[in-house]
Amino acid sequence: MKTNFEHIESVYWVFTQLCNDQCAHCYNLSGPKGARITEEECLQIVDNLPPKIDRIILSGGEPLAERQKLYAILDKLQARYPTHTQIMLQTNGDLLTGEILDTLIEKGVTRFDIASIDRFHKKAGARLMELADLFESRGVNGDDKDPLVEKESYLHENSLSWGYWGATDDMWLGGNWARGRAMEKNLWKKDPEHNFCTILSGARNFLGGYEDIPQEISIQLWQINPCCPGTKEAMGDARTEKVADVLAKVAKSPIWQKLNEGNPWQMGESVGITEEFARGRTQKLQNVCLWCDEFFEKHCKGKLVAAK
Ligand code: SF4
Ligand code: SF4
Repeated sequence: MKTNFEHIESVYWVFTQLCNDQCAHCYNLSGPKGARITEEECLQIVDNLPPKIDRIILSGGEPLAERQKLYAILDKLQARYPTHTQIMLQTNGDLLTGEILDTLIEKGVTRFDIASIDRFHKKAGARLMELADLFESRGVNGDDKDPLVEKESYLHENSLSWGYWGATDDMWLGGNWARGRAMEKNLWKKDPEHNFCTILSGARNFLGGYEDIPQEISIQLWQINPCCPGTKEAMGDARTEKVADVLAKVAKSPIWQKLNEGNPWQMGESVGITEEFARGRTQKLQNVCLWCDEFFEKHCKGKLVAAK
């Protein structure tokens, strides 16, 4: 595990929950009335990111539904990270036009992920061929269609690429998360044996030290999380705190160290909660992230704050 977080590998940032779609499986309740933060807050967050980052993934919500804010963020990112940081955009693709694509490329986006090719999204892939033509017309390479998980695959600055995927039954991120609208619509994955925490988008390696997946944190609007679903209580507020300082603080806590291992069943050991108890509760709750919520809410509220 690292102790200095002035350089981190990957930041996944949901800077808006506004979206033109309103999918039943959406984990963060995005939609036409989705939550937003101001442009000023977004720019404060860019200021508070670590000085060196290998890649930044901008997501939502639908990032193109808040274009002016997105452009302001991209301008600031280009100024702060003029080289060596790959800027990636995750979008449902519905609002993308040639003119917008030109602007995004000019503002430094080098990777486009169309994350809507599944039955939940309104257009469910209907625009895919149109988008393929659009990308081809701008020289954006479509050979790497899957999400870029390997480090080597996103460290090629200057090369433009795009891919597409979605929430299919065998999807790479392990089933619909027990969060947001997926909870409301009862579409979340019920499998107490599945450890979401060990895969990319889970908490494993958010503090670094492992080579199997990139070191990635997620920022949900302003909440700094070790994973995309987000812990019950965020690790910090990226509007007012330096992300590197927040990570250095939690790295001292055995609770977060266990999450860095991708081991939520042992995260309570330092506060007297056994793995056996944690596994029993997960069986009842049917999902490891719901166990994680219960742990933070019931078993370590004060201790978590102390750890921070
Ligand atoms: S899943 Fe994506 S496209 Fe659908 S509502 Fe959520 S953010 Fe929007
Ligand atoms: S178990 Fe907790 S830390 Fe791990 S992915 Fe789920 S919510 Fe995140």
